[in-house]
Amino acid sequence: MTLREACLYGQRRLEEASVPDADVDAWYLLEYSSGCTRSHYYAYPEEELTQEQEKSFQERIEKRAKRIPLQHITGVQEFMGLPFFVNENVLIPRQDTEVLVEEVQKRLRPGMRFLDLCTGSGCILISLINGCPGVEGTGSDVSWKALEVAERNRKRLEPGAKLIQSDLFSEIQGDFHIIVSNPPYIKRGEISELMEEVRLHDPLLALDGHEDGLYFYRRIVTESPAYLKKGGSLYFEIGHTQGEVVAQMLEEQGFCEIEIVKDLAGLDRVVRGTYPE
Ligand code: GLN
Repeated sequence: MTLREACLYGQRRLEEASVPDADVDAWYLLEYSSGCTRSHYYAYPEEELTQEQEKSFQERIEKRAKRIPLQHITGVQEFMGLPFFVNENVLIPRQDTEVLVEEVQKRLRPGMRFLDLCTGSGCILISLINGCPGVEGTGSDVSWKALEVAERNRKRLEPGAKLIQSDLFSEIQGDFHIIVSNPPYIKRGEISELMEEVRLHDPLLALDGHEDGLYFYRRIVTESPAYLKKGGSLYFEIGHTQGEVVAQMLEEQGFCEIEIVKDLAGLDRVVRGTYPE
């Protein structure tokens, strides 16, 4: 099979399986299986794959046709320009979450301490430290399996990051200038409606926000004042319908300078507030 044939074959097979963006995923799997770059592909489309490359490409296409996420096949998702290792034990980092990181970056200064609750792959923790050298960042997660993934990313990308197993604040000590979290926020009843890649392959623990989707916001908002420095800030990623209600929780808890920030699609995505002096 030539590179061009492989690309077309992969695309057709994924289209048959109704995989969204079949052409893009077929290309990524070809690149991953053959090591061929875009420019090489355009210069030598008739180059033959080795038998081994062809076999591993076909196996990966079959996996993707079964709706296994691309990132679980390649083991990588890029986030804030960094390559994060991922597997089925963590939520695959979403581009939407970059809005949260960018908002936190506006306040984060060298010397500050921040906490990332529900760190998952560690993508928020590690990209914040990467973007602001001199900060002290701790990530926590209730899941040991998620922490194994975060640990792998920490070692390779930001060895100075700290990780701790904790059910939200249960094992957390000290106080922070900033607390950030992208907690599970899908309503339990809506999980069955998510696309197959998410519903079957992202960990349920990382999606499930209990009955109304707001369980973790409620707990973090009420418990965070004990862990925030005066004048410190709390930042959440939220589902696009949750902005007003989470902002109201912050207000009732005495936070000020509350803001709702939209993502690139114009949907509410981040809520922040300051714990008053
Ligand atoms: N904080 C991680 C992320 O943004 C995990 C979020 C989660 O598991 N809900 O990817």
